[in-house]
Amino acid sequence: MLALQGDFEAHTAILESLGAAAIMVRTPAGLDGLDGLIIPGGESTTIALGIEREGLADPLREFGGPILGTCAGMIVLGREHLGILDISTRRNAFGRQVRSFEVDLDLWGERVRAAFIRAPWVEEVGDGVEVLAEVDGHPIAVIGNNVLAVAFHPEITGETRLHRWLLA
Ligand code: GLN
Repeated sequence: MLALQGDFEAHTAILESLGAAAIMVRTPAGLDGLDGLIIPGGESTTIALGIEREGLADPLREFGGPILGTCAGMIVLGREHLGILDISTRRNAFGRQVRSFEVDLDLWGERVRAAFIRAPWVEEVGDGVEVLAEVDGHPIAVIGNNVLAVAFHPEITGETRLHRWLLA
């Protein structure tokens, strides 16, 4: 769990409810020996500054294991920051906090309850990135090379589907 800023405690609770042990990552050494990584929602500029400050950018790019990025985590994974996933994103694309909404999505044939809070959408997808779900014609769940990025917060609605993907 990248634990620099954002909703990492709620994600940790979901991982633990699924029987996984979550380790808080705040330094490059923290990545050693992990089976997977979550970059949580929060504030992408703050998370990106923390990544720079701790020298985590290259270690994250070299991580190699499966990664789940949600909301701000999706932005950080994209071209504007780490470039681990070949997507460009538009921040706050659905509007301000008061425009937050929940919706049921179909992900891999399962119903997923998704909360969008100042959420981004995906503006452009590169080769090798697959769009899994859209809202209003905009991609909000994408996957490429074992990196899954979604624009919403699964942890707020108690959704476990994405965490189960990571563990699998
Ligand atoms: N608007 C935030 C950003 O741009 C993301 C919001 C969120 O993670 N809920 O970083």
